[in-house]
Amino acid sequence: LLPIGVVTAIVLTSSVIYFARLQVSLPTQIRQGLRRNEFYLEYQPVVDLNSGNWVGAEALVRWRRRDGRIMQPDEFIPVAEHSGLIGLLTERVIEVASKDMGTTLRDAPDFFLTINLSARDLQSGGTLEKLMVMARDSGARPGQIVAELTERMLVDASAAKSVIKAMREQGLRVAIDDFGTGYCSLSYLETMQFDCLKIDRLFVEAIDTEAATNRVVLHIINMARTLDMKLIAEGVETEAQANYLKSQGVEFAQGWLFSRAIAPDEFLKGLA
Ligand code: C2E
Ligand code: CA
Ligand code: CA
Ligand code: CA
Repeated sequence: LLPIGVVTAIVLTSSVIYFARLQVSLPTQIRQGLRRNEFYLEYQPVVDLNSGNWVGAEALVRWRRRDGRIMQPDEFIPVAEHSGLIGLLTERVIEVASKDMGTTLRDAPDFFLTINLSARDLQSGGTLEKLMVMARDSGARPGQIVAELTERMLVDASAAKSVIKAMREQGLRVAIDDFGTGYCSLSYLETMQFDCLKIDRLFVEAIDTEAATNRVVLHIINMARTLDMKLIAEGVETEAQANYLKSQGVEFAQGWLFSRAIAPDEFLKGLA
């Protein structure tokens, strides 16, 4: 039998270790992950529906943790947003994208790269500047870089409007992402100019099945035409969806029908 003092010591030590581990909160882990370069990007091709060619890519961030586990953005982007780390993360995303895709942007002047931004990224001019540096360093036209913003970001961020305007004045392009899932009204959209509208996967998914949703999709398409925006359909998984979208004049699409998000070297092979 162990003396009581030893037992107490063991219990105390192991609980200290246990709680110390628990206390390495996700924000702290994100910070460490940034320091250790654990964040990397995959690229999902954007396809021209008429030619079938890959004409662009969306950069999607992933986190390879020290234990080898891959974390998906839905698991850590919201945490990064709430803990004030998103600025650092976005900065990293832009740096990595610049390394991965700089040469492609320079060599294929019509190729475009889309980068997801968060609301906080619009609260200062910093992001605009970093995107411009990316364009300059890689010898790309600013118009090859597309900032993706969600509807939700626009509703409460009053600063957003002026940053978006400034981005477009500098020649960057701006897309509205996940369209139809937020709260933007048509009249609100009319007050700002976007270059591109991304039709959310929810609507694309319903194309084969629900007539009512198809009317919504047609409405979105018409609206984009009226406001002179290009269209990218997201989450295209079937030929039927692709054909329908193409028949309605949608220019671009992304989705598993064409390709999942893939590593940069694989992407460049596919592009060649
Ligand atoms: P999102 O911008 O709407 O990105 C599209 C998501 O749909 C991606 O998930 C993509 O992998 C997935 N997807 C693409 N094609 C298909 C398909 O055919 N079917 C289905 N079911 N899904 C498809 P992912 O990579 O997990 O990203 C999730 C979200 O995380 C993104 O949604 C975006 O909001 C956010 N995110 C990703 N990367 C970044 C980033 O660098 N910065 C910020 N702020 N957010 C990011
Ligand atoms: Ca996006
Ligand atoms: Ca989206
Ligand atoms: Ca989404």
